[in-house]
Amino acid sequence: MIQHDTVVIGAGLAGLSFAYHYDKNLPVYESNDIVGGLVRTIDYKGCKFDLAPHLLHLRNPYVRELVFDKLGLEVETHKRKAHIYYDKVIIPYPFELNLLNLSEKTKRECLEGLNEVKHLTREEELETRKGSYRDYALKCFGSGIANHYLLPYNRKIWDTDPADMTCEFMSHLITVDKDKIKQNAFEENTDSFGYNVDFYYPVKKGIQDLADIFAQQLGNIKLNTTAKFFNTRNKTIEMSDGTVVKYNRLASTVPLQSIIRNSDRDDLKPLADELVYTSVYTVNIVIKGKVPDTHWMYFPDKELSFYRISYPKNYFKKATPNDEQIIAVEVGSRNHSLSIDQIEQKVVEEIKRMPIFQIDEIVFVHSIKIPVAYCIYEPKRPPIVEQLITTLEKDGIYQIGRYGRWEYSSMQDAIMDGKLLADKFRTND
Ligand SMILES: Cc1cc2nc3c(=O)[nH]c(=O)nc-3n(C[C@H](O)[C@H](O)[C@H](O)COP(=O)(O)OP(=O)(O)OC[C@H]3O[C@@H](n4cnc5c(N)ncnc54)[C@H](O)[C@@H]3O)c2cc1C
Repeated sequence: MIQHDTVVIGAGLAGLSFAYHYDKNLPVYESNDIVGGLVRTIDYKGCKFDLAPHLLHLRNPYVRELVFDKLGLEVETHKRKAHIYYDKVIIPYPFELNLLNLSEKTKRECLEGLNEVKHLTREEELETRKGSYRDYALKCFGSGIANHYLLPYNRKIWDTDPADMTCEFMSHLITVDKDKIKQNAFEENTDSFGYNVDFYYPVKKGIQDLADIFAQQLGNIKLNTTAKFFNTRNKTIEMSDGTVVKYNRLASTVPLQSIIRNSDRDDLKPLADELVYTSVYTVNIVIKGKVPDTHWMYFPDKELSFYRISYPKNYFKKATPNDEQIIAVEVGSRNHSLSIDQIEQKVVEEIKRMPIFQIDEIVFVHSIKIPVAYCIYEPKRPPIVEQLITTLEKDGIYQIGRYGRWEYSSMQDAIMDGKLLADKFRTND
């Protein structure tokens, strides 16, 4: 048996950040043969594919200084070009502020719906966020905008009826400005909106660079080693290589549901089993030809199987060796055992029919599955997550990161989770 005071499970951003901030020589156990978790870039046939396109929106000054100045991540800054494809036209994001070029029927329905909703103060709007996402969308934006865009798009990305979802995932959204929505329905909009007006992307290997700059600082990462069984009562972990590791404190980025399922806490398993999530299937279609001049696009249309397409070559020149383009298509599903071949086939057929591409040749297709991608915000989620996390903490297991805490969060949040846990441990040492 190997004994350590503090052990890290997972070399994704949260685990790497924790070890970086607490003790650079801590053992970090990782299932994969490479660090990064979701922040990985795969080299295949000369192309570079993120597991799903990952763009950096670093607003936190601490994280910016750490990543850019201390760790020296080299990035290019891009002015966001994000669009929506609807009514057979491409309009800028966000939908509600760019109704101008939609069909007359859609525009009329959106404006009529908006006129039916009462003006809400910021406080009243926040109050509506305590109900379901469906109620929020209808009460704040009216039936037109809700039914043409907000509800069908969110139904697709979460593969969940918006009436069954809470609004907790919405921290970034902007306040509804009815006057601006109406004005922009009749004249060209020149402003940029939203939380991600600029973004950064690494210049060397892809988003993998971000994980690598943390990993380069650490001295004890153990790849190809899965923590298979957590015995919380005697504080030991059975590893896939047969070793048993005894710990005093564990910084765990293992998905909350999975750590409970693979533990001696049979009493908590029924609760953990109630947590729901989507898998994401990224279908990367490498083509010779042309794609729209944008970075990514949202697709609310329920006839299409995917919710978003990114164009990595438009922000990362090295994504393909020559002038090929990548159409990176994301499909989300709560069915975790879909055949990736069938998804790929369907997506390729849909893409070939879309008028927004000029496809001279499909060079090859490379698809990737993210088994646990979006944790779904149902009303039962908060008490379950709270109970599981606090119970584990009593046994010295500290859950961090997007899946450790079972939430919708970003790369920046994962880095901060690791730092904050390190601060907490140091205070208690
Ligand atoms: C489709 C998609 C698109 C996204 N796009 C963006 C974006 O554009 N910008 C942004 O900021 N964020 C984005 N994110 C979010 C971002 O990927 C995450 O917030 C962040 O990577 C989470 O890091 P983590 O360390 O918490 O988890 P992970 O990256 O999942 O890392 C956990 C690690 O633990 C390992 N592990 C798990 N269980 C075990 C075990 N039992 N034993 C050993 N190792 C184990 C895993 O292999 C993994 O390496 C996106 C997420 C998704 C799903």
